[in-house]
Amino acid sequence: RAMLEHVGHLSVEAARKFGSREALVFEDRTFSFAELEDLIGRAAAGLEGIGVGMGDVVSLYASNSWEWVVSYHAVQRLGAVVNPVNAMLTQPELEYVANDCAAKAIILSSDHHDRLDGLKAHTGVSAFVSFAAKPPKGVTGFGALINSGRPVPTPASVPPDALSTIAYTSGTTGHPKGAMQPHMAVLLNAKSIFLMQGRHTDDIGFSALPLPHVYGNVLMNGMFLTGSKLVLHARYEAEKALKAIEKYRITIFDGVPTMWMFLLSAPSLQASDTSSLRLGCTGGQTIPVSVLERIDAAFGIEMHEVWGMTEIAGAGSSSVSGGLHKPGSAGVAFPYCEFKVVDPEDVTRELPRGETGELMFRGPLVMQGYWGNQAKTAETIEPDGWLHTGDLGSIDEDGCIYVIDRLKDLIITGGFNVYPAEIERVLAAHPSVALAAVGRQPDPVKGEIAKAYVILKDGAEADAEALMYHCRSNLAAYKCPRKIQFVTDVPRTSSGKIMRRELATINDEPEELALAS
Ligand code: ATP
Ligand code: MG
Repeated sequence: RAMLEHVGHLSVEAARKFGSREALVFEDRTFSFAELEDLIGRAAAGLEGIGVGMGDVVSLYASNSWEWVVSYHAVQRLGAVVNPVNAMLTQPELEYVANDCAAKAIILSSDHHDRLDGLKAHTGVSAFVSFAAKPPKGVTGFGALINSGRPVPTPASVPPDALSTIAYTSGTTGHPKGAMQPHMAVLLNAKSIFLMQGRHTDDIGFSALPLPHVYGNVLMNGMFLTGSKLVLHARYEAEKALKAIEKYRITIFDGVPTMWMFLLSAPSLQASDTSSLRLGCTGGQTIPVSVLERIDAAFGIEMHEVWGMTEIAGAGSSSVSGGLHKPGSAGVAFPYCEFKVVDPEDVTRELPRGETGELMFRGPLVMQGYWGNQAKTAETIEPDGWLHTGDLGSIDEDGCIYVIDRLKDLIITGGFNVYPAEIERVLAAHPSVALAAVGRQPDPVKGEIAKAYVILKDGAEADAEALMYHCRSNLAAYKCPRKIQFVTDVPRTSSGKIMRRELATINDEPEELALAS
């Protein structure tokens, strides 16, 4: 009898319980749970054939696809470790990661074949698999992989605290770090979010979140766990998302805030039938309350916010279905987990409820550490298990957490603390603004200043002066951005998060408005 002991059991258990039900939809191909289970067993056999065994690390370097889902679970079935790699990484970054986690095999998609020579020359990887129908010489094709022998029917026996994944952080604030996630944490994460939000077997989810990212990952595993359906897109395009919602009668839409903002300003939103939606969820970055209000006006759905990080294998807090919903709060701690707030200047000092400081997190979701980086691990996890989130926030009397911003993104201008998220929130509330991102710029007088980059809605009219007036009416003078520049896009991570530190790479435009200080 199958039991949910580790991630490798998910697909076996799902096939047993939900067999012929539709599971994954990718580019007009639909797979049942039984079909996925069979493919996973065959891929596991193929991987075994090229030398992958228990504990070996397999890097998965491809954008969202059904093959990605099959590969991830095949590796887990063998008791091997998945290293999900962000498909946007460059050659040197990819080689760094493959070497850093001592990958034995790399599974990649055909658009990454140009990476093979470098990988062969600069890493110790001995086996390569490609999703391509006709793979290059020395590379195993996916077709051959899944037809190479008798399927592996039973998941390897590994304990729940064994390593499931080495997942690198988004790199939003610097070099990605490899978080070591045990099976237990990955499973508990999917269980908790689906349970807290009341996601169930009859739901049809939509996700364009990258599978290597914890948010995308948890949705995939939740599909197996609940026997629900997941419509997966390779990349996010709001217009295509709207079409999918209509076509597949999507009930749950998940996305980072930017995805929601683009959905709200998509030209065909009004003409689309989105009546099947019953639930929405967001996380990964602060979402302005005004955007939550616009979501409510457009869809009128139950909306949840999660807070999470790679270091805890996904989310660690969520609002609860039927429970308290406080706009601006990312909900309460997951089961068996807890938050506290400490003084960033003296982390031994715990702050009372309502006060703002660094959010700390503790519980079975916390990673085992950063792969090969003991110093960074010791900086991040206290000996008593508390994890530094690097986020500023507070906890209210009901245990609801409020995330204000990242500690690292705090802008100190003329001695005043300014949170970019607060400016972004105010700008996002302006009717002409589709998206606003705030970064820092060095300033000879104030040390640094806040500069806003604004994407206007299609056809909207607004000039910098009008937006500045809007800021002045809603923010204390010292918090107002000193410059506003209109742009058509901002640098984002593969999961769609705004990379504030990259904003400085946008060239200054003459029409930007500089305020006299
Ligand atoms: P890196 O650590 O490499 O700079 P990253 O922190 O963006 O990248 P992730 O692990 O993907 O990598 O993201 C975790 C971070 O995302 C959190 O620390 C927090 O700053 C932010 N975040 C997640 N959920 C929320 C939320 N609901 N509200 C505000 N911020 C959030
Ligand atoms: Mg981080």
